[in-house]
Amino acid sequence: MSDAARRSEVESPCQACGACCAYSENWPRFSIEEDAALDLIPKELVNAKGSGMRCENDRCAALAGKIGEATSCTIYAIRPEVCRTCMPGDAECAMARRKHGLPVLSV
Ligand code: SF4
Ligand code: SF4
Repeated sequence: MSDAARRSEVESPCQACGACCAYSENWPRFSIEEDAALDLIPKELVNAKGSGMRCENDRCAALAGKIGEATSCTIYAIRPEVCRTCMPGDAECAMARRKHGLPVLSV
């Protein structure tokens, strides 16, 4: 990883947030992934239908840490496509952060 990439990872607001990973059980759904990619995700983290990540009270089972303080995705490298599209400061980010009482990020 380059220094710039490492810096941006370290500085990502997501690491002190995690709100979009605990917004709705309908959010971390599988979409365009190849079967081989989905097979990498531990079965205990997949929902009963096999349609997305398993959630408890809307919180993804792969989310570690405390929302709004320090969080991480325990399957970051193999997370579903939808998780790669949520960007800090976008509309979904704002919805999720509001739900958890966190200030909306400016873009
Ligand atoms: S809600 Fe926004 S800031 Fe929080 S983890 Fe998701 S994309 Fe990152
Ligand atoms: S798989 Fe990771 S990035 Fe996706 S919702 Fe779950 S914790 Fe968040």
